[in-house]
Amino acid sequence: MIDYLIIGSGLAGISFSEMALQNNKSILVVNNNSQNSSKIAGGLYNPVILKRFSEVWKAQEQLIIMNEFFAVLEKKLNCKVDFKLPILRKFFSVEEQNNWFAASDKMNLAPFLSTHLISKKYSGIDSPFGYGEVLQTGYADTALLLEKYKEYLIKNKMYLEETFDYDVLKEEETGIRYKNIQARHIIFAEGFGMHANPYFKNLPLDGTKGELFIIKAAQLDLDVIVNTSVFILPLGNDLYKVGATYNWKDKTDLPTEEGKTELVERIKEIIHCDFEIVSHFAGVRPTVKDRRPLIGTHPNHNAIHILNGLGTRGVMLGPAMAKALFESIENKKPLDKEIDIKRFSAKGK
Ligand SMILES: Cc1cc2nc3c(=O)[nH]c(=O)nc-3n(C[C@H](O)[C@H](O)[C@H](O)COP(=O)(O)OP(=O)(O)OC[C@H]3O[C@@H](n4cnc5c(N)ncnc54)[C@H](O)[C@@H]3O)c2cc1C
Repeated sequence: MIDYLIIGSGLAGISFSEMALQNNKSILVVNNNSQNSSKIAGGLYNPVILKRFSEVWKAQEQLIIMNEFFAVLEKKLNCKVDFKLPILRKFFSVEEQNNWFAASDKMNLAPFLSTHLISKKYSGIDSPFGYGEVLQTGYADTALLLEKYKEYLIKNKMYLEETFDYDVLKEEETGIRYKNIQARHIIFAEGFGMHANPYFKNLPLDGTKGELFIIKAAQLDLDVIVNTSVFILPLGNDLYKVGATYNWKDKTDLPTEEGKTELVERIKEIIHCDFEIVSHFAGVRPTVKDRRPLIGTHPNHNAIHILNGLGTRGVMLGPAMAKALFESIENKKPLDKEIDIKRFSAKGK
């Protein structure tokens, strides 16, 4: 008998696995390669929505939990996954500069928006109006995190590479049974794969496809992340991650010509030097109409839970949402109404 059977090992599944292990619970993770949102993500964390100059929902709280999460993980996995790096918002006009400084006066945004206008010139980018710097930002190397975490789980016999078969899940008095595994609880964290899950498939998980590139640009000399309509993230050796697109119709994870054209156009709005596309990725973000995660316990099955809907911000949201779900299961701490799946009627199995 284990405490938690966890389905999915993306940002959501890893966040919950860690929360459980750090609280001395036993786990087994079942994962396949059907979704790749976490693997290919930009990995940025940014407490400010730069389009509207507004604070990300509960940003400060999430950052505290995320920082602790990465600090513990880096020690445990013996590798660096959290890279603290400024995000600069390029200004296109004096009006944009003014809007920035007005926003930085607001109490909730003051900790995140620097009041110094950055006028440093980066070769390859024209910036006559300078940049604003967002504070407490950076990115997580999500691909490395997923790879190292899987290695750790395998080494400790806590990983099963297979497609979870929903038909053989049984409820028992003490929890659930899956094949020969008995667990007190099961956590579903399948990202957009949730649509195959008969227990939760009626929850409104829309899915938003995103495409991104790795480019090589020898004349660009960025040592910060620049973010406007797309982000440009320096990886070293003249390589940059650039993304991302938003497509609400196509739900496949195949890179497209349409996505490529859009990204190339956006890049050219920011940089004016040559670049070469080294690789092109796509994935489906698990987004929800009301832009809040899908967290909670199935209304008819006490041992069956969900951790999903991390949307466009899995890096910041994952650890905080895993903590909230864990505390609601173990300590009966009520979930915030905004994230609890009770706000929708789950008409699944
Ligand atoms: C192009 C792009 C750029 C992004 N950029 C950022 C960013 O900069 N910052 C940020 O915070 N977020 C970003 N995101 C969003 C972020 O990636 C998501 O919020 C996050 O990946 C969601 O994690 P997840 O674990 O819920 O889902 P996933 O990463 O999809 O993981 C689900 C896992 O469950 C497995 N699975 C599914 N069904 C089954 C089954 N039946 N049996 C076994 N295993 C199963 C899947 O194979 C997968 O391994 C981006 C996303 C995309 C696509």
